[in-house]
Amino acid sequence: MRGSIHRFSSILSSIRFYDYDVVVIGGGSGGLACSKEAAQLGLNVAVLDYVEPSAKGTKWGLGGTCVNVGCIPKKLMHQAALLGTAVKDARKYGWQISGPISHDWATMAEAVQNHVRSLNWGHRVQLQDKKVKYLNMKGSLVDEHTVTALTKAGKEMTLTAKNIVIATGGRPKFPTNIPGAVEHGITSDDIFWLKESPGKTLVVGASYVALECAGFLTGIGLDTTVMVRSIALRGFDQQMAELVTDYMESYGTKFAWKCVPKSVEKLPSGALQVIWTDMLTGNEHKDTYDTVLWAVGRAPETKALGLNKLGVQLNKKTGKIIVGVDESTTVPNIYAFGDISQGRPELTPTAIKAGKLLARRLAGRSTALMNYDNVPTTVFTPLEYGCVGLSEEEAESRHGKDNIEVFHAFYKPLEFTVAERDASQCYLKVICERAGVQKILGLHFTGSNAGEVTQGFAMGFQCGATYSHLLETVGIHPTSAEELVKVNITKRSGLDATVTGC
Ligand code: FAD
Ligand code: NDP
Repeated sequence: MRGSIHRFSSILSSIRFYDYDVVVIGGGSGGLACSKEAAQLGLNVAVLDYVEPSAKGTKWGLGGTCVNVGCIPKKLMHQAALLGTAVKDARKYGWQISGPISHDWATMAEAVQNHVRSLNWGHRVQLQDKKVKYLNMKGSLVDEHTVTALTKAGKEMTLTAKNIVIATGGRPKFPTNIPGAVEHGITSDDIFWLKESPGKTLVVGASYVALECAGFLTGIGLDTTVMVRSIALRGFDQQMAELVTDYMESYGTKFAWKCVPKSVEKLPSGALQVIWTDMLTGNEHKDTYDTVLWAVGRAPETKALGLNKLGVQLNKKTGKIIVGVDESTTVPNIYAFGDISQGRPELTPTAIKAGKLLARRLAGRSTALMNYDNVPTTVFTPLEYGCVGLSEEEAESRHGKDNIEVFHAFYKPLEFTVAERDASQCYLKVICERAGVQKILGLHFTGSNAGEVTQGFAMGFQCGATYSHLLETVGIHPTSAEELVKVNITKRSGLDATVTGC
């Protein structure tokens, strides 16, 4: 009897009771999806989300980058720009629009910001409905089961959890060696929350954020220059990247190719004087702008988390958290995913899906892992660019130039005809294995609604589509997407790839 009481009390002392089954640090795309899913599956969950104001003092609510300073306000401002083009087209279609059209930043910004606030509110309500404890507090780890949380006012709280999930995302970087960069510049954390028009803008950087922001600024009528130090859209198919920037140039965006900024100075007039170096000639140039927008990449938010003392390993170069296929870190019970994790796409749908799958595994409901292959994406530039799979360069390097077949077409969207719009950059290509069933390796499309087009084809791609599957698919006429199921000219043939007729 005495022995069994002793055994029972030693088992009890080995079981730890935690405040929560899961504590999620970071209430962005991934953290919210993970915490809601985990709570829905019966786990006791808390999520901490805290926004450090930007260097310019911009703040926002619950929901992370995508909702507040990323995808959502970006796509809405992109839409504002597209409408400007549509109004110009409308005249050709018979609409009587008197006088020149102009755009009012304040009206757009207020409407976009109100929508974002409604999403912040929606997220709070959903957390409440799903019984997730939401804490507007900054989290850091004490040990693998303990998190301290701090309010803005400095009030501290300790939470214990069986599992800790880190989904703290990233924030835009500023260049460190350019005088005036931080004092006088803004980033994507600020642009969507400006109350007044940014005016004449210099955008530094040439990837997703830079080109998308420069695209909508140009589209709403602002004098916009993109400063590119190397190439545009690194990592993307470079033929497609060139079409995107060529279109932007014809749309009115200015490009300073192979140039790097040297200093930013505020003149007595309030204008920002930027001095830059042309790397090809070594010459210096200067011009004045109302706004300098740094879009030079993002840094992971790990500094405040106290990960080093716990032994959570970070990638030395990027500072991101090293994770396994199941999103586990080097410390048991601590997981990380989304933009904070090394080697993952920095995209909302991957963060959401990975978060849900992790929640299901933590709840013991599934063992399914996130599949990071074949993730489609779209760059929302004035001429949108959607793709899934390999770039032509990557396909060549993995398979060899002789072992791939590239089918391509220059097409003219029907809507461009009456509007008399130049369609020189409307292009698509499908990269296939050359032998056997000609499995599709990559699919690329520039044109209107590229995201909508690419999303559908991404499913075929995920199912292992081949070139003959594409040809067996009946088109929907008259659309731009149907050009993808009709593509038949190979690059190798050298034949003219311009689509003619219906
Ligand atoms: P985040 O959404 O960044 O969320 C992290 C949250 O954690 C934030 O709220 C942060 O404040 C909080 N946090 C950080 N540290 C702590 C802490 N210690 N304690 C508590 N909270 C903390 N992706 C797309 O798929 N499509 C797009 O069109 C698109 N457009 C974009 C446009 C721009 C301008 C940018 C910048 C990004 C865009 N992205 C887009 C990328 C997308 O926004 C991110 O991939 C996505 O938000 C990542 O989600 P996450 O959950 O990993 O992190
Ligand atoms: P990236 O890291 O993709 O690109 C950074 C850009 O800045 C590159 O063009 C780089 O040039 C340039 N750069 C870096 N440092 C300097 C410098 N000191 N001076 C001049 N130029 C510099 O960052 P982004 O912020 O554009 O995007 C981050 C991620 O956010 C993307 O990977 C994407 O996953 C996600 N995102 C997704 C979107 C979507 O789905 N539509 C939209 C926006 C973002 P170089 O090539 O020479 O290094």
